Amino acid sequence: EKFAYAPAPESRAVVDLAPSYGLFIDGEFAEAADGTVFKTVSPSSEEVLAEVARAGEADVDRAVKAARKAFQSWGALPGAERGKYLFRIARILQERSRELAVLESLDNGKPIRETRDVDLPLVAAHFFYYAGWADKLSYAGYGPDPRPLGVAGQVIPWNFPLLMLAWKIAPALAAGNTVVLKPAETTPLSALFFADVCRQAGLPRGVVNILTGYGDAGAALVAHPDVDKVAFTGSTGVGRAIARSVAGTRKKVTLELGGKAANIVFDDAPIDQAVEGIVNGIFFNQGHVCCAGSRLLVQESVQEEVLDALKRRMSTLRVGDPLDKNTDIGAINSAEQLARITSLAEAGEAEGAERWAPACELPSSGYWFAPTLFTGVTQAHRIAREEIFGPVLSVLTFRTPAEAVEKANNTPYGLSAGIWTEKGSRILSMANKLRAGVVWANTFNKFDPTSPFGGYKESGYGREGGRHGLEGYLAGAADPTSEHASEK
Ligand code: NAD
Repeated sequence: EKFAYAPAPESRAVVDLAPSYGLFIDGEFAEAADGTVFKTVSPSSEEVLAEVARAGEADVDRAVKAARKAFQSWGALPGAERGKYLFRIARILQERSRELAVLESLDNGKPIRETRDVDLPLVAAHFFYYAGWADKLSYAGYGPDPRPLGVAGQVIPWNFPLLMLAWKIAPALAAGNTVVLKPAETTPLSALFFADVCRQAGLPRGVVNILTGYGDAGAALVAHPDVDKVAFTGSTGVGRAIARSVAGTRKKVTLELGGKAANIVFDDAPIDQAVEGIVNGIFFNQGHVCCAGSRLLVQESVQEEVLDALKRRMSTLRVGDPLDKNTDIGAINSAEQLARITSLAEAGEAEGAERWAPACELPSSGYWFAPTLFTGVTQAHRIAREEIFGPVLSVLTFRTPAEAVEKANNTPYGLSAGIWTEKGSRILSMANKLRAGVVWANTFNKFDPTSPFGGYKESGYGREGGRHGLEGYLAGAADPTSEHASEK
């Protein structure tokens, strides 16, 4: 048989899990001040992976104090010296990438092929990229003495735990800030392993502090008076609460929030290539992607052809064990997220859209959702308006480029969009009209540390990645909120 070779599943044994983990404050792992812990569960098996300390207000205060103390020397260190630490961290991340990829797949549920081939290489790439900036700040037009902001309070979601950490910590450290980072409650482990990487790299105490915990710890961190910069990635609802919490303070803020991206397929697009892009756009990482192409806008004349090809392709997707190298779609990250996806899909049916999913056997334990397609969707349907954050694609149609733009922009979000067409002039004119921070042409979900990423409208403000990402951590550099005001 042509495809008889099936690689063995990745071995769980490459991760040496302890029964319990502490907070990482001032270079040491420590219990929470009040001794509270929570359990982190593997979403693919519902097995408890470890017990983790749950940070409270007193821990936030301890961590911010440690970061403030460390800032005095870290912020004054020559950039070249900071760069050396970042290069060291990048290399250790590469050396430990197999272990970290397995850990991430266990705690998050995403397929090992993605953690191994996408997440980990990008994580290391971010540290290499920003390591290169550390000694070049004074030549980059930021003046002779570019200054860091101070202590950065960073709060991240569960969909790309290590990658979101890298987006936040690498530019912050390169610019001379120290950080206190809170990972999401369902995926605390890779951030704690990253703390161990920092120790291995000899990073001075207190430069990076990791507080595992829930939203209350995130809220206390954001509100702490001695935090100079707040960087948040997560839902638009929490983003709003954070904007309110920091209003009227001197804190600089960047918010990376939700999305409802349109993936627009014109009738001249190569159908096979477009179908691959549609599948990657919505089923990559189970659709737990802020910039997921969750609305397919297909030109009416090719609707049937595209949907037939898409259904055939969806029938080949393998849902199951994240550690199996053949798996395309892993586990949904939590029971809560599964309930949310399920209820929005039910709303799609109740509102009259037609639901389709390939026959696929889902594992008996853990949280799973089959790749799902909705046709007959109108702009009024909830599945066309709300972020589902799961493997559910809503299909809408259009006749003219103007109608495609109107429908694509008909959302409170503005994070990303995709265009599939052979016409270069159409790509340029559409890209200018789409109100989205990223517009991909004949590709989707492509990321690179050199490119800025961020949203318009309710997808947030400020940019991460590239030079813009660095500026979010430098005093005197562009204010991200005013950048937002100059939208196209
Ligand atoms: P969430 O907003 O529920 O949680 C994100 C983080 O915020 C978690 O660490 C959580 O503990 C913390 N938190 C909760 N309440 C808080 C509060 N009041 N104050 C401070 N922190 C608080 O989001 P989620 O469910 O973890 O992640 C999914 C969301 O993240 C989606 O909406 C997705 O689009 C978005 N996201 C955006 C980007 C981007 O770059 N724009 C990237 C990834 C995910």
